[in-house]
Amino acid sequence: MNLFIISVGNELLSGRTVDTNSNLISKSLAAIGIETTGKLSVPDEKRAIMEAICFARRMADTIIITGGLGPTPDDVTVEAIAEFLGEKLVFHEDVLNRMKEHFDSRRLVMPENNIRQAYLPESAIPIPNSIGTAPGLFIKKDSKRIFAIPGFPSEMEAMLKRFIIPELSDTGELPERFELFSTAQIPESQILATLEKKLSRDSLMRIRFYPSYTGVNLYVPKETATIVRELLSDYIVANSEKKLEQVIGEILRARGQSLSVAESCSGGMLASRIVSVPGSSDYF
Ligand code: ATP
Ligand code: MG
Repeated sequence: MNLFIISVGNELLSGRTVDTNSNLISKSLAAIGIETTGKLSVPDEKRAIMEAICFARRMADTIIITGGLGPTPDDVTVEAIAEFLGEKLVFHEDVLNRMKEHFDSRRLVMPENNIRQAYLPESAIPIPNSIGTAPGLFIKKDSKRIFAIPGFPSEMEAMLKRFIIPELSDTGELPERFELFSTAQIPESQILATLEKKLSRDSLMRIRFYPSYTGVNLYVPKETATIVRELLSDYIVANSEKKLEQVIGEILRARGQSLSVAESCSGGMLASRIVSVPGSSDYF
């Protein structure tokens, strides 16, 4: 299974808003082994959204579209999906009732404009919105999946966590799962040289390297995880995104030990990293 993300919104193209949604989506789905093969940002225009869906379908079997589900006429994501699939929009009474409840609970009268959010393409299943009004939608057709979720980051995130991730985790067709190794004190090139001794080129290609200032994080497919763990045993700090200073803190606390540092030339950077962990005064 692989993923393509389409972010819809004029504000994303004018630079007014940074597209953080696609970033969170990629990251969350990578954690369950689903790779993002590409993403596009498009304006609130039906034609552009349809072209993007067309491209996305060639690149991936799962598409997530974020934005353009609002009640105003410039929100055209749902129409674009329906037109692309050659489907009519059908009215969902349950969706409308849920929106009315949302307004009632705030002692507000639902504006007429919101009614159009209860119309979804024929083959769509509505995704409930626990925060705002616009429902998301899910379509499974011709062995492709399309999800459309709101642009509002909090609504987007809620649907991603409560609906999309469980839905995709449940298909039984996830590709290889990855194991995460946080390493420290070893540069990327040396990791590669170490792994090359035992792993084939193909296996190496499937390992993701995420270097940062404090170390390299590796996402390793399950089938090569044991051998990678052995080869890098001196450098692996944790089996999670934990940083070296957190791991050191946990070890010190578990052993009831404390730590002092004498620094020269580093301007206190070492101490600064150690005390960046909440509760570090227990051992530092
Ligand atoms: P809906 O959110 O229901 O799809 P909409 O597209 O009309 O409707 P907007 O009013 O365009 O929603 O966006 C809501 C808020 O979410 C805005 O502040 C917008 O900048 C922000 N937003 C939209 N898309 C993204 C994105 N991809 N990343 C981060 N913020 C976004
Ligand atoms: Mg928008």
